[in-house]
Amino acid sequence: MTRASAIDGASSYFDTGRFASDLGDLVSFETESQTPSKAAELSRYLKEAMVPRLRAMGFDCEIHQNPEADAGPLLVAQRLENEHRPTILSYGHGDVIRAQTDQWRDGLHPFRLVDEGDRLYGRGSADNKGQHLINMAALRAVLDARGALGFNCRILIEMGEEMGSPGLAAFCEAQKDALAADVLIASDGPRLQPDTPTMFMGARGGVSFDLVVDLRDGAHHSGNWGGLLADPAMILVQALSTITDARGQIRVPEWRPTSLTDDIRRALRDLPIEGESGPPIDEDWGEEDLTPAERVYGWNSFAILAMTSGVPDAPVNAISARARASCQLRYVVGTDQADIVPALRRHLDAHGFQAVRIVPHTRGFFDATRLPPDHPWVKFVARSLEETAGKTPHILPNLAGSLPNEVFSGILGLPTVWVPHSYRGCSQHAPNEHVLKSVSRDALRLMTGLFWDIGESAGPH
Ligand SMILES: [Zn+2]
Repeated sequence: MTRASAIDGASSYFDTGRFASDLGDLVSFETESQTPSKAAELSRYLKEAMVPRLRAMGFDCEIHQNPEADAGPLLVAQRLENEHRPTILSYGHGDVIRAQTDQWRDGLHPFRLVDEGDRLYGRGSADNKGQHLINMAALRAVLDARGALGFNCRILIEMGEEMGSPGLAAFCEAQKDALAADVLIASDGPRLQPDTPTMFMGARGGVSFDLVVDLRDGAHHSGNWGGLLADPAMILVQALSTITDARGQIRVPEWRPTSLTDDIRRALRDLPIEGESGPPIDEDWGEEDLTPAERVYGWNSFAILAMTSGVPDAPVNAISARARASCQLRYVVGTDQADIVPALRRHLDAHGFQAVRIVPHTRGFFDATRLPPDHPWVKFVARSLEETAGKTPHILPNLAGSLPNEVFSGILGLPTVWVPHSYRGCSQHAPNEHVLKSVSRDALRLMTGLFWDIGESAGPH
């Protein structure tokens, strides 16, 4: 058997309708992790949809309780062939975001796979059921062709990613040995462009916090007290105006990255930023000297997610007592996570804004991760994808959004290579979520070629 025949096997898995029918089965599990009444579906997905599939491929499977109470279970599956061959860890999440059932268009339903033109609609089709199904089917195509993978494989499936992966870090810390590997190869998120394979090796981090100016009890008449009482909204917006300038360029010195090195700039040079979906970008927004790709993948961005003072929909003639802005910093490798809030404190104090309190959010902390574009595993995966696709993949040092990738790169100490199988117009986290059939078929072939190559040469040397 050859590389080409393994890849043909993956194509025929798609072409004979087995991919769509397997995906339909996975989508029919109503695995909303944010809906407490669906908790039983989370373990049912692992027991009924994952374990039989993986056992049939010679994997030992164990379902573990989440170390955090009320969070979904985790599955660790492994197929160990030979201790002298490399071990690949893969990851996926079987939970989905809220279904939003009444918002899907006529003829669609979140938990019924609908086949229409080049699209397969269903909740989780893109995020993430379709993606881990593709990787498992590719492993099976290699097993069918070769009789063995040629490497050891571990697969971790969690059921709480859409809740911010509760317990994942503690679980990986406790299961370090059971999850030991040479590299993480996993799939989530979109390709930059649907017709070109994409790789990314980490994610930007994110820190969220409120800025609060709370001056007194209750609002006071603006005629009797205006000019006498300090206005919390004015103080807050003045403080915010010191964090960036008028085009959003960051002014807090410690928040300005030093990691946009020449090799990262080179990696970002030819990447397309604007796709067929989404609003046109504002060329005159953000860091002036950077290209759009450098702004979103190689730099930090500050956002004011929401802000209030008084009641905007029903204003009264009063100086309000309190103003609040909910803020976020997305940041790249090289920004010290532990110093993000203290640096802002020093900055606000230096500008005379001692009255502005910083209240960090308890959820929503991810650390930034990245792998150099010339890492041997990056080059190995890129070469394999290129051989199958006949074109150079788009390679991102890190995703602009966030992923629980620090668990794999930090706690497990792995190089991490992500190969996403969706596209930016997939309506992930919205009604009418779907995958493109053309991309899914292509992804099955790419991953089969990649797993074949790892088994053939035992990875990079
Ligand atoms: Zn998601």
